[in-house]
Amino acid sequence: MGKGVPFTTGSGIQSRYASQTPQPATSALPSVPHTAAHSERPTQRWSGPRPAGWASATAQASQEALRGAALRPRPPSPQVPRSARFRYRRVPRAGPKWRRRRKWPSYTFHRNRSIQEVVVGEFVLHLCSWHGIYVLDITKGVPAAVSNVFNMKLLVILSFWGLVAGYRGNSSYSSAPQLLLVSFDGFRADYLNNYDLPHLQNFIKEGVLVEHVKNVFITKTFPNHYSIVTGLYEESHGIVANSMYDDVTKKHFSESNDKDPFWWNGAVPIWVTNQLQENRSSAAAMWPGTDVSIHNVTPSYFMNYSSSVPFEERLNNVATWLSSSNPPVTFATLYWEEPDVSGHKYGPEDKFNMRRVLKEVDGLIGDLVQKLKALGLWESLNVIITSDHGMAQCSENRRIYLDTCINHSDYSVIDLTPVAAILPKINVTEVYNKLKHCNPHMTVYLKEAIPNRFYYQHSDRIQPILLVADEGWTIALNTSSSKLGDHGYDNSLPSMHPFLAAHGPAFRKGYRQSTINTVDIYPMMCYILGLKPHPNNGTFSHSKCLLVDQWCINLPEAIGIVVSALLALTVLTGLIIFMQNRASASRPFSRLQLHEDDDDDPLIE
Ligand SMILES: [Zn+2]
Repeated sequence: MGKGVPFTTGSGIQSRYASQTPQPATSALPSVPHTAAHSERPTQRWSGPRPAGWASATAQASQEALRGAALRPRPPSPQVPRSARFRYRRVPRAGPKWRRRRKWPSYTFHRNRSIQEVVVGEFVLHLCSWHGIYVLDITKGVPAAVSNVFNMKLLVILSFWGLVAGYRGNSSYSSAPQLLLVSFDGFRADYLNNYDLPHLQNFIKEGVLVEHVKNVFITKTFPNHYSIVTGLYEESHGIVANSMYDDVTKKHFSESNDKDPFWWNGAVPIWVTNQLQENRSSAAAMWPGTDVSIHNVTPSYFMNYSSSVPFEERLNNVATWLSSSNPPVTFATLYWEEPDVSGHKYGPEDKFNMRRVLKEVDGLIGDLVQKLKALGLWESLNVIITSDHGMAQCSENRRIYLDTCINHSDYSVIDLTPVAAILPKINVTEVYNKLKHCNPHMTVYLKEAIPNRFYYQHSDRIQPILLVADEGWTIALNTSSSKLGDHGYDNSLPSMHPFLAAHGPAFRKGYRQSTINTVDIYPMMCYILGLKPHPNNGTFSHSKCLLVDQWCINLPEAIGIVVSALLALTVLTGLIIFMQNRASASRPFSRLQLHEDDDDDPLIE
């Protein structure tokens, strides 16, 4: 990102400066100081009467200088007495007056593929793309006073490199990476701010935090867990809801009937990709899909899903697999149902009950860290703790009853709330028209009109009509359950977002980022494990700032660095010129050696 970004406005800069500097860019370069035009310029120290032809010679030289001819050595004017040409003149290194006449500093920017050229007075600074990093290279036009150009160049390069190294941080993280992916279901992002979670906060303090993860629509458990491990939107990986129906095969999918690979084979989850690598294995202490043979592969170690298996047993299993398996387990998952279950039951605004539940969850995170430390895995294992979705507060007063709008025999409900998948039994348009104005807190979409931002249209498993309830509203047929919290709503709602925290040698320490997408987690995990990712909807650059070995700098920082560097170099250049002028001021005039054929007649007689 940093490469070249600061210069995307280079043409704008060029035109701006060009308007301030009417002469050609090269005229800003130092003209040769001892050309006729400059050598014959009178000085204030001249005190005697002027020789014949003196005025005309200087006037002519000035006019030529204005025409840009000053750069070329010119033959002496025949009108000027020969002796006058050399009698007194500046020493070749020009003095203060000469400099005052220049427009300094003047900058010209050239876009020349990987090189930006900046002319600062006598200096030509090249900003070179070097391993993707811009360095300043002072290459020509340096006055003799700066004898050790190499040192200067080296200093600038080292300064930049030091800056770069500071951003790159500790890149000691090396081979044999292991990654544990943990999900606490329904862990809404703002629980982190609203509840006391000391173990999780300690975990974050030593690692990274993404405050909001924008998950995928619909914000349900199975779809989002599969998006985390595939980097795909739901329409692409095919797990489009917790309850699905395929009209072609007449197959049904539900949380208790999820073992048919048919539903999962639309994508390749990361544990399968990892498993197919030589000398690697995967393990799963539960995660949707890990107990299914996807593309004929299951993790080397996995548990069949059962909500009754305590967390401690899941943790012990996964820790054992990670620490003592051969071939080594390099990717593992760990899943826990809370705080989702309690979020549904009490609602996220029930502080009393949610505080209790979240304290328990935080205690489990403490157990996890303690276990990893006891097994010597804490420093070497990369751990991501995240979730699939958040939770919205529901109410008995916010119910939408479909039976009040349409006869139940006209359609089938594949999935009900808060996003209802409707399969009409009669004409689709007729069902759509009956539902369209059913309730102002429910949006009704024909499949082909589902907004593009949901990425939820191009799948046979998405039904012809989709009903989306407003945040906190519940869709029901005639009666509804007593759930006080729910999820599945629009994925742009902050209440639907989970968080992500990570710790380990691959991650930076103490770094926070406001947001990434759920689909961005997959390319990051593939990078950590050294796996070639399958085509996905994620963007690695969104999550790479979490990683310790990635160059990561945002645009304002990049612009700030370049501007600071230019200012520093301008000051440095000014200092050098100042020093140079001081040196030359000590011997402002000198009598020059005359050529042998010069007469020794005095200039003024
Ligand atoms: Zn749930």
